[in-house]
Amino acid sequence: MWKIADAHCDTLWEIGVRGTAPEDCCVTAQRLRKGGVSLQTFALWAGPKGPQDDPAGKARAMLAAVDRLGVPVCRGPLPEELPEEPMGVLSIEGGEILEGSIACLDEYHQRSRVRLIALTWNNENEIGYPSAQDGPGLKPFGLHLLREMDARGIFADVSHLSEKGFWDVAEHAELPPVASHSNLRELCDVHRNLRREQASAIIERGGYIGVNLYSAFLAKDRPAVFEDVLRHIDALMELGGEDAVGLGTDFDGIETWPEGLGNPAELPALLDALLARGYTREQVEKIAGGNYWRLLKRGEAAARIGK
Ligand SMILES: [Zn+2]
Repeated sequence: MWKIADAHCDTLWEIGVRGTAPEDCCVTAQRLRKGGVSLQTFALWAGPKGPQDDPAGKARAMLAAVDRLGVPVCRGPLPEELPEEPMGVLSIEGGEILEGSIACLDEYHQRSRVRLIALTWNNENEIGYPSAQDGPGLKPFGLHLLREMDARGIFADVSHLSEKGFWDVAEHAELPPVASHSNLRELCDVHRNLRREQASAIIERGGYIGVNLYSAFLAKDRPAVFEDVLRHIDALMELGGEDAVGLGTDFDGIETWPEGLGNPAELPALLDALLARGYTREQVEKIAGGNYWRLLKRGEAAARIGK
């Protein structure tokens, strides 16, 4: 059985904001257990309208739904090893949730122990510009925020960020960049995916790239198939990504996915396919969860504030 760790899902939005019953979500405790997902990252998403639509209030509603997930969420130090039973950790998707405030960052760190913050979603905010607009780099508050995140061991998630913002993170953050749920642009040319140079920079700095299972980010102009996921992983491995590649499924945030990879219980089939493709067991274990787990432990060890 593989030990799986996933860097992104939107289940808390479903439960906390849309009011979906936990058992009707894609990510359920039962499916996590069935798939051997030891660690699931649950994002607090700012919502589609960004800063104009009370992202902080939505985040509070999602936090109130944490207890209904059916899996324990770790809001303190991580255990020594990737756990046997499913456990959750929290992230932020859309830095407008912080409302431009370091005191707010501190609260999310102290009380919720968010591990990653996607600096933007698809809207401009106090921090920077989204990949959709391909605007300038980080704003002054964004650069300040990076230093405060470094001090707390929180990674900058660049999955929705503008390219110039990405390079600001790569240059100015002490912790390596993380793309929690993005694929490669050379295989599927959409703004949410990474250019080869971006992926290489993440790999060189010891960051993380979580492969996204959304059909539209895997293949362009046709529905994606299972094989497409393998192609993106192959290409990242060819870039030297053995210690950086993993999963960022985006479950509960996507409407289409390759057949056979539609929920956490189906993830072992992907890892079995990688093994059958010729990767070693050790390599597949890293992709399954080892790389993400090592990253989170590194963030924790790097924290100088509120360990
Ligand atoms: Zn996203």
